[in-house]
Amino acid sequence: MAHIAIIGGGIAGLATAYYLQKKREVTGASLDYTLIESDTRFGGKIITRTIDDFVIEGGPDSLVTTKPWGVALCRELGLDNELIPTNDYKRGIFVLNKGKLVEFPGGFRLAIPTEFVPFAVSPLISPLGKLRMGLDLFIHPRQETGDESLASFVRRRLGQEALDKIAGPMMAGIYMADPERMSIQSTFPQFLEMERQHGSLIKAMQRAKKNRPVNGAANGKPQPMFLSLKGGLNDLVKALVSRLEGRLCLGQRVAAIRSTNPGFEIRFDDVSQPPITADAVVLAVPAYTAAQLVESFLPPLAQLLAKIRYVSTATISLGYRRADVIDQHNFGGFGFLIPKSEKRKLAACTWTSTKFDGRAPNNDILLRAFVGGDGQEKVVKLPDNELLSLVRAEIADLMGVTAKPIICQIFRWVKGNPQYDVDHLARVEQMKEIAQQATGLYLTGSAYLGIGIPDCVKDAMLTADSIFEQLNSNA
Ligand SMILES: Cc1cc2nc3c(=O)[nH]c(=O)nc-3n(C[C@H](O)[C@H](O)[C@H](O)COP(=O)(O)OP(=O)(O)OC[C@H]3O[C@@H](n4cnc5c(N)ncnc54)[C@H](O)[C@@H]3O)c2cc1C
Repeated sequence: MAHIAIIGGGIAGLATAYYLQKKREVTGASLDYTLIESDTRFGGKIITRTIDDFVIEGGPDSLVTTKPWGVALCRELGLDNELIPTNDYKRGIFVLNKGKLVEFPGGFRLAIPTEFVPFAVSPLISPLGKLRMGLDLFIHPRQETGDESLASFVRRRLGQEALDKIAGPMMAGIYMADPERMSIQSTFPQFLEMERQHGSLIKAMQRAKKNRPVNGAANGKPQPMFLSLKGGLNDLVKALVSRLEGRLCLGQRVAAIRSTNPGFEIRFDDVSQPPITADAVVLAVPAYTAAQLVESFLPPLAQLLAKIRYVSTATISLGYRRADVIDQHNFGGFGFLIPKSEKRKLAACTWTSTKFDGRAPNNDILLRAFVGGDGQEKVVKLPDNELLSLVRAEIADLMGVTAKPIICQIFRWVKGNPQYDVDHLARVEQMKEIAQQATGLYLTGSAYLGIGIPDCVKDAMLTADSIFEQLNSNA
């Protein structure tokens, strides 16, 4: 019987185990697996805390619906009735502009205007900036192939103001990244394709809009932008774990892997734990940990893995009595983003109880502030009381909310956000190639082909497929 060791019990490791098991059921293959997680809980970045009926997400809070794999997995696990949509009728997103919160004009899809009137009357972009964005209709596509930074791409097509005020906070904000370093190819390849096919992003968006069913509807039903789970995303983790039949090891850190060619020997931090052997190893851990684990038998791979930079972030959730804050702010939207040029300590803030129903008791409000990211990491290290004071001061200044929160939860993600720098994709292809040559070694998770949960689920599915292909070719 083939034995697979999956190291890392975040969504990537859990989903890999699940799809391996599913394929085993279908094929009747003789295979088992051990899933090893160093923490005392499964889920990695996915963590939900329910306190006094506030549902607080420490890491991810939603599944984007345009990438179907996350939602499909929830449905497959019987969580269909637990899925909740974003309240898209309250969708407004604000951006800090010269110290004031200004709503993004309607009709924007990421950084690109698709409707003329809301864009033309928006105070967010200056008249010159708007004119420059319109030049996208006439600027020739870039001739060179290959990657470029998000900043270079947006500056080239839509101008500096669109980069500073829209694309930077909105697109780089998702990755907590510096747009000057972030790869457009690895993060928003659809924009490169739009430029290539239509010669203009605005034209491409308008054509796509024409072809889209009314309200973005699928089968007559409007499709929400994001979905989550009533009880929080940790319910996905619980559902996955409850289905897994393999050996699950919690609280055991893998310290080293030795290639025994064929196969591997896996050693634990806790030396009283005997090493285990495996025919194949799936590394579903951060790239810097993967680098340490392969160093002894695949130094070139370790070097490439170590090149993937990570930045630290933190989320600070604050719950308020509605009566204490409602005169101070109306929370009419999903929250706001802050461009770097505004020189604030806060990166963004989600008005969680507006974005999703059921995140706070009826009479209360929940919001979630983000700090850290590329170039802003020092803040993450502040002690709790200082971090809380800083966030409260920012919220008072920007939203006028001075009330004392009734609850506060801080989650720090030290070296938690992988950065897809320019040429990331080429490096990942190289890594996967090297790993493939070392028969039985697989890399999966947010470091490689997409940071979102849906991307991790898709990559896990492909990893399970590759393991089966390899097993079949060995048979
Ligand atoms: C603040 C924040 C907000 C986010 N928001 C969203 C969102 O709204 N939607 C979305 O789709 N995505 C979001 N993401 C991204 C998404 O949550 C992550 O990319 C994804 O959960 C990563 O999954 P993973 O399994 O690759 O890694 P991880 O979750 O990091 O899991 C890796 C696991 O490996 C374990 N491990 C590490 N070393 C060892 C070792 N030596 N031995 C054994 N185990 C080890 C770790 O303990 C961890 O559990 C967000 C991320 C953050 C930080």
